[in-house]
Amino acid sequence: MARSITTLVLAALSVGLTFGGADAADKVRVVTTIPDLKSLTEAVGGDLADVESLTRGTQNFHEAEVRPSMMLKLRKADLLIENGVELDSWVDVAVNGANNPNIVRGARGRIEISRGIPLLEVPSTRVDRSMGDVHPLGNPHFSLDPGLAPIITQNILDGLVRIAPQHRAAFEKNRAAFLAKVDEQMARWTKAMEPMRGAKVVAYHPSFIYFVTRFGLTQVGTVEDRPGIPPSPQHLVNLIHQMREDRVKAILVEPWNDIKLATRVAEEAGAKALVMASAVGAVKGADNYLAAIDYNVTALVNALR
Ligand SMILES: [Zn+2]
Repeated sequence: MARSITTLVLAALSVGLTFGGADAADKVRVVTTIPDLKSLTEAVGGDLADVESLTRGTQNFHEAEVRPSMMLKLRKADLLIENGVELDSWVDVAVNGANNPNIVRGARGRIEISRGIPLLEVPSTRVDRSMGDVHPLGNPHFSLDPGLAPIITQNILDGLVRIAPQHRAAFEKNRAAFLAKVDEQMARWTKAMEPMRGAKVVAYHPSFIYFVTRFGLTQVGTVEDRPGIPPSPQHLVNLIHQMREDRVKAILVEPWNDIKLATRVAEEAGAKALVMASAVGAVKGADNYLAAIDYNVTALVNALR
């Protein structure tokens, strides 16, 4: 009797150790530069990863300010996941201040998500950075294109496995389950967007080019003169003219853009200014990856139908 109780207790303990929540010490401590990558890392890491983001979705990532709080987060990180393509190159300054050799460029604990991403809007001529163009290597705003979720989560998986190879099977299982959910939603999103195929849109900053291209829409212009460069009056006159000609119905706006200006341009052109979920957490109701994409699909369907 005593023996069988011991066996039961041992069995319960081992079940607890194998299937129960991972204790804090065993979790991979991950820091991502942007919240979209946090949401995707949580999907792959499950309860085996503790994930923090250095920025919030309501921020313009191009202009993130390096703060001591960022360095504190980075100091304890096992893995740093960055977007790349110069969206978040400020993270190098934060890493310098964090004194954590695990996550310096080239270290095992450093992953760049743009690896393997087919970039759009790669300049054909050299961009003069002194002019202030913030997309010198191509467009870095790919994280909310659901069609790229397989590549992005593969890169995340590779990073997690490097740090915690013993959890490979769990990470792979989480990723497969998540991608199945993305596929399921994708079928619904594609159907909802189908009537809008071929519609022309304008963006304030080209943050949605991967998203609109994925669903068959065409971006015919931007409010900014070039990425990161405010519009000249002449540029706005030309843009309004072009929007009327192309029957553009929507200007896609990030929450921190000059909404008044976007609204004025939209009104003059007979269109609407649509504040979009430019990132996870950018607007209410976009608190995770799937919800953010869902928000954008719904906003576009309502504005363009
Ligand atoms: Zn940008």
